[in-house]
Amino acid sequence: MDLYEYQARDLFESHGVPVLRGITVTTAEEAGAAAEQLGTPVVVVKAQVKTGGRGKAGGVKIAKSPAEAAEKAGEILGMDIKGHTVRRVMIAEGADIAEEYYFSLLLDRANRSYLAMCSVEGGMDIEQLAEERPEALAKVEVDPLVGIDRAKADEIVAAANFQEADRDQIAEVLVKLGEVYQAEDATLVEVNPLVKTGEGKIVALDGKVTLDDNASFRQSHHAALQDIAATDRLEVIAQERGLNYVKLDGNVGIIGNGAGLVMSTLDVVAYAGEEFPSKPSPANFLDIGGGANAEVMAAGLDVIFEDEQVKAVLVNVFGGITACDAVANGIVQAYSILSDHGKHPKPLVVRLDGNNADLGRQILDDANLPKLERVDTMDGAARRVAELADQAK
Ligand code: GDP
Ligand code: MN
Repeated sequence: MDLYEYQARDLFESHGVPVLRGITVTTAEEAGAAAEQLGTPVVVVKAQVKTGGRGKAGGVKIAKSPAEAAEKAGEILGMDIKGHTVRRVMIAEGADIAEEYYFSLLLDRANRSYLAMCSVEGGMDIEQLAEERPEALAKVEVDPLVGIDRAKADEIVAAANFQEADRDQIAEVLVKLGEVYQAEDATLVEVNPLVKTGEGKIVALDGKVTLDDNASFRQSHHAALQDIAATDRLEVIAQERGLNYVKLDGNVGIIGNGAGLVMSTLDVVAYAGEEFPSKPSPANFLDIGGGANAEVMAAGLDVIFEDEQVKAVLVNVFGGITACDAVANGIVQAYSILSDHGKHPKPLVVRLDGNNADLGRQILDDANLPKLERVDTMDGAARRVAELADQAK
């Protein structure tokens, strides 16, 4: 999960990383009040969107009075930055910036370690710096079992060529940023810019943090950081039910067992859809996993039927440890669970193959479920579901 800047700021603060005060608001009026409350001669109005380059896009503006802060917030709220609508702004204390640096710590999967990157030339587009003047970006491997201890921090500041006089203070901040990374189970902690103020203080002015969702079981406070309002409604429902679901743009619902099979099903349906005038395409990815029992099948069908864009659904299951008869029974029970809840099925094409396929098909035929068709090949099933979606438009 990627965090907003204000959430990263709060995490930094809780680990003792020096940050500036900031208040996050959703209206221009509140922005004025926040500036008043901060009471500094200059505040910065910053768009809260999960994308970089806000400054260049006009999403970071300086204001010299509460009235100006309200006015700037009014301009920024609602703005579109690289496809992200600005719903919140952070009103932050203005910093007197003497120098801008860059620091990041990230997971280096290929080397099974962490990688720290640091530069005395921060603020700008770091990708551009890395490309044009790679020597100006120090890269230092960090042992994941140790993290950034003081010795490692000293190594990083030396590699980045900071002035002697600043090294101690910067190294201290890097140790704390390393603590954020490890204590919070992050896969990325980036500060751009890390600044030196006119008074010579080091402050993290902009933070980007990615948390490792695989660690959520031991980071219970991270759940509150998820922006439910900005997450797709169906993805939220699916997540609550423990389903591996991703919403896509098309109109053919897809359920399968095993991520590989589901991904190839998406391809096959997209290909089959090309043949029809309205070009039906997949509406989602949904992997119900190995133990495709009735409850999981019902939960999956329910989420897909809830999607208004879905005109027809393909269930593509290859029976393995969970045999096709169990899956077929799951579908039959799922239908009755859904009808108990007053929900109506959409046209459904089922392809069963693999372990106990004959028995599974027989169970489906005997159940004689409304709007359900059985097609026994993957290509045939994909073609039929595309046709049904095209007819429904
Ligand atoms: P980004 O463009 O999304 O990375 O947003 P940043 O928060 O990094 O802000 C972009 C730039 O705005 C920074 O590199 C600074 O030059 C400038 N900026 C941000 N906050 C302040 C501030 O408090 N005072 C001043 N003078 N400039 C700021
Ligand atoms: Mn930045």
